[in-house]
Amino acid sequence: SVNGLKIIDILNKIADVIDENKFYLTELDAAIGDGDHGLNMSKGFAVVKEKLKEDTGSNIGDILKKTGMALVSNVGGASGPLYGTAFLKAAVVMNGKGEMDLFDFVMVLQAALDGIKMRGKAEPDDKTMIDAIEPALNVLKDGVEKRLPVKVTLKEAVDAAYRGVEHTKEITARKGRASYLGERSIGHQDPGATSSALILDTIYQAIA
Ligand code: ADP
Ligand code: MG
Ligand code: MG
Repeated sequence: SVNGLKIIDILNKIADVIDENKFYLTELDAAIGDGDHGLNMSKGFAVVKEKLKEDTGSNIGDILKKTGMALVSNVGGASGPLYGTAFLKAAVVMNGKGEMDLFDFVMVLQAALDGIKMRGKAEPDDKTMIDAIEPALNVLKDGVEKRLPVKVTLKEAVDAAYRGVEHTKEITARKGRASYLGERSIGHQDPGATSSALILDTIYQAIA
């Protein structure tokens, strides 16, 4: 399992990876949206980094809550409230806990996904971040059930997330700005699914 300081370390790494991929994410969003996804996310995660600087890491729920609040209030567009809600819901699961194991992570990701669905009213195959997160969560649940090693399970979950990202190229957007394009969104990769896969990949890399 990982402690609160490690969680802070992972969130800092996520901020760096989002920043490194800022132009890539923005380019994806320029094709089917308004070209600000990378900018939105990097701005939000820069604030997350700042807010976690003084945190001692004793309460993982607090860390996730600070993260969610920072994203809700600093990320513009649809993705801010959605990622913000995801972290705020995850915070409830981890409230008062100083350690997080794979089983906790499954519950955290489930709460995050439920929060995103509640807030955005999207379902799988609507060409959103859900198309990366849900397949990853299903693989995680399977790994926990079969008692597979943590690293193997996380790796397979990340692979499933990237397959989900690839799948978004084949489908029509039904939620968010990209839905204005209708079938013309086919052939383009969803930026939010891409950022979700990058986040999951960063978590795996930090633990592997
Ligand atoms: P905006 O579209 O408002 O400019 P962003 O560009 O930051 O916001 O984020 C766009 C991403 O948000 C999309 O690629 C998609 O993955 C995600 N998204 C948009 N609407 C929804 C929704 N209702 N549910 C889940 N995800 C959504
Ligand atoms: Mg956008
Ligand atoms: Mg926008």
